[in-house]
Amino acid sequence: MLSKNDIFKLFKYLTFFFYFSAVYQFLCFVNNVSGFLGLRSAFYLSFIWLVPIVLFPKYTKIVSAFIGILLLITSLFSLGYFILYSQEFSQSVIFIIFESNMKESSEFFNTYFQWWMSIVFIGYIYVAFRLWKCLEPVSLNYKGRIFITLLSSFLFIMPFTKPYISKGKSYDYALTKQLNNMESSAPWNLIVGYMDYKEVLASMESLLLENSKIKPLSNLVSKDKDSTLVLVIGESTNRNRMSLYGYSRNTTPNLNKQKDDMVVFNNVYSPRPYTIEVLQQALTFANEKNPDEYLTKPNLLNIMKQAGYETYWITNQQTQTKRNTMLTTFSKMADHQVYLNNNKNQNSSSYDEVVIAPLNKALKDTKYHKKFIVVHLIGTHSKYAYRYPSKFSKFTDSKTAKKLNDSQTYKYNTYDNAVLYNDFVVSEIINSVSSVKNPAVMLYMSDHGEEVFDAEDRLVQGRNEASPTSAMYTIPFLIYANKEWKQRNDFEQLKNYTNRLYTSADLLFTYCDLAHFSFDEFDESRSIINKNFKQHSVFIGDPEKKSKLRDLVKEPF
Ligand SMILES: [Zn+2]
Repeated sequence: MLSKNDIFKLFKYLTFFFYFSAVYQFLCFVNNVSGFLGLRSAFYLSFIWLVPIVLFPKYTKIVSAFIGILLLITSLFSLGYFILYSQEFSQSVIFIIFESNMKESSEFFNTYFQWWMSIVFIGYIYVAFRLWKCLEPVSLNYKGRIFITLLSSFLFIMPFTKPYISKGKSYDYALTKQLNNMESSAPWNLIVGYMDYKEVLASMESLLLENSKIKPLSNLVSKDKDSTLVLVIGESTNRNRMSLYGYSRNTTPNLNKQKDDMVVFNNVYSPRPYTIEVLQQALTFANEKNPDEYLTKPNLLNIMKQAGYETYWITNQQTQTKRNTMLTTFSKMADHQVYLNNNKNQNSSSYDEVVIAPLNKALKDTKYHKKFIVVHLIGTHSKYAYRYPSKFSKFTDSKTAKKLNDSQTYKYNTYDNAVLYNDFVVSEIINSVSSVKNPAVMLYMSDHGEEVFDAEDRLVQGRNEASPTSAMYTIPFLIYANKEWKQRNDFEQLKNYTNRLYTSADLLFTYCDLAHFSFDEFDESRSIINKNFKQHSVFIGDPEKKSKLRDLVKEPF
């Protein structure tokens, strides 16, 4: 059917087509930005370009030249973006380009563009040209053409068929897999990225429109005339893995030193083990009993703006993904946004210290007397080894709490290293807040915990609501205030409240209390720092299954 010579010729075509995705994917892989998957997907997807080659044997050179030019142009977007920013190209990049930060993007471009990059591009195009020159006309018999067409099509739709047919997953799940895979290679990086961007944008715009129709709070009074409020949202950090909370390894040396200046709450739990689901409650009036109130009542951003605060959203979480829609929508409600992580996958690195510079810029902004700044970290999200620079790789021995195999020990250690790095970042944020001239206060909490072989009765890692462990919900929750804030407020008094059992679903009340707001719907009994705090239920679980909710007041971990 295919002679050795045919195979060799086809292989050269394949190499030519693969080249346009391989260079970029290889750079991502060796720079630890993403795993091997992108390289592999791009290779399989490159087969599809063999179809026009075998179907039009008379025009192989010209057809391959056309395909090559298409791939070259589209691949330059990903490659150029990677060389400039060391991040993957994704729908988030398209979001940034089309949305707000055009000016900032061009500033960034000017800072990062170096003359040698033009040489890289010329070299890149030259290699492509040499590969094209090596191509020879290939003419297959009837069977050969059918074989190549079937094989290429099979490989192209494999990301869809594998989960859909052999694993019985849903059509939507399989389609998402297919599109995700396609994003790894040119020209689909642009096509799929743009489609995704438009889809998410449409749902975001409708959410924003709905939000704009919500009635503001009645009788909101904001007492402070000048204050800076910082809310730091961490990620996947179990407080029991922080030495600040008594963990045996010294994973929080910096926070330990700052302990006297903080109020460290040691009995706070997240209602759910998933970012979006938690923040839909923590930043709004919604809770486990009324999970949809985030759509019908003002959220913390709305409230801050109503109270006259200038609002900022600085994030090192992925800018725009389908799942992140609500999060990006929250961010769009702020007056200023800084998106620092445009990677396609959570399994990509963008170290959290990138938030410090834009935070300092916002803190020093003297135009406004009242500021509310949200800092959203990627924290200790898996894969843990992507979360910290190598100098934070301190815990490497096998003396872990339990008997673990090599791969489990690796995860256990890299998690602790990620906590160590998170300590550095949170502590740096505190240092920044301490230097603010007017009263400034910061609240740090993790969105939820993470199970990394902590459970007594089984060896599990990750998060799963259907099989909950305490580590998935156990979060750090602490407040830091600067000197000026302490002069006006009784900070020491708050230290009496650190043992209160509390859910981060009620964060809004604590935060509004911290900001000295009063309004009709304010429920002081739901604020962990209020003298009239009452013990309410601390529910965990999926609010769709109300009867299955577990109340930690009655049924503690
Ligand atoms: Zn999370």
